[in-house]
Amino acid sequence: MSFKDILSQNHIVDPFKKAISSDHLSHAYIFTGQKGTGKSLFAKEFTKALFCKSNNGDSCDTCHNCTRIDNNNNPDIHWITLDKKDKFIKIENIRDMQYHVRLSPVESEYKVFIIKEADRMNEESSNCLLKTLEEPTPNTIIILIANSLASVKETIKSRCQIMRFKPIPTDVIKEQLMNEFDTEVKEAEWISRFSYGSLGNAIELAQDKFYEKNDAIIRRISELKLEHNLVFAEELTESYLNEGDSLEEKRQILKGILNCILQYYRDLLIVKIRDTNSSTDEGDLCLFNVGNEDTIQAQSKFFTQEQIMNIIDEILKSIKYIDYNLNINLLIENIFTRISLLKST
Ligand SMILES: [Zn+2]
Repeated sequence: MSFKDILSQNHIVDPFKKAISSDHLSHAYIFTGQKGTGKSLFAKEFTKALFCKSNNGDSCDTCHNCTRIDNNNNPDIHWITLDKKDKFIKIENIRDMQYHVRLSPVESEYKVFIIKEADRMNEESSNCLLKTLEEPTPNTIIILIANSLASVKETIKSRCQIMRFKPIPTDVIKEQLMNEFDTEVKEAEWISRFSYGSLGNAIELAQDKFYEKNDAIIRRISELKLEHNLVFAEELTESYLNEGDSLEEKRQILKGILNCILQYYRDLLIVKIRDTNSSTDEGDLCLFNVGNEDTIQAQSKFFTQEQIMNIIDEILKSIKYIDYNLNINLLIENIFTRISLLKST
């Protein structure tokens, strides 16, 4: 891989190529933007371009330095990552980084420190990092990778050059899925819409066969009756959540399921609006689940617009509360009880 493989981020790639060629690099950067837009991949490609023996502002992908970086085996590149079991990056990790910052590069001109999930730092780690940023060491580059800037301290932000990664366009995601993962066109179209600009999410969804899961969920929710709410909640828990999943993993899976259900009700609403307002241009309101148009058309007859809007509200609220709720199973039961009640009013 090289810079050409970083999709739809030319506004970042081009200035970096120039900065590497002219040796005008900042001592600290924040790469920010939603998950799955290529921030970590770019950080790796950047270090390759910086250390590559070809010296042309990009990586050759074949020299000793490029291949070693690809194998995570270069002593001048340090990745600081959040331990899966931890909520925040540990202060020991930042202290360890501080120690290495003071040392000279082992074999290259530069040392690079890349902190992943830098938006997951508590006060202690942030203050420790701040000290390093306040006294830049020559030939040292620190890169913070953060999905969101909201939890990064102002004092840290003000000492870094901020690079904003854009969401990846739907057609680029679709093409990538079809070319690199042999995904069928219908599935690639659906996933590219459902991944909301995140190629990382799109790849996970494709590998997880989420398109088929969505179909199953739609089929089931369209048949949902008030008395089935608990059975359905149990079915979902059994089919989609695994015993070994952490609470965070369970939350992510549940968010995915609720998003499927949300898009289904959004589609019902669109069909409803189209039916009651003949002047609406259909081109303006596209169905998310194009492949299930018949089911959606048939189901929309059982609802008023108000009912659908209330259900959508309820799902949005539930998505918001997932992160604060410890009992995932109870949360699922509650959601379907409320949806069933709203459906029957
Ligand atoms: Zn190279």
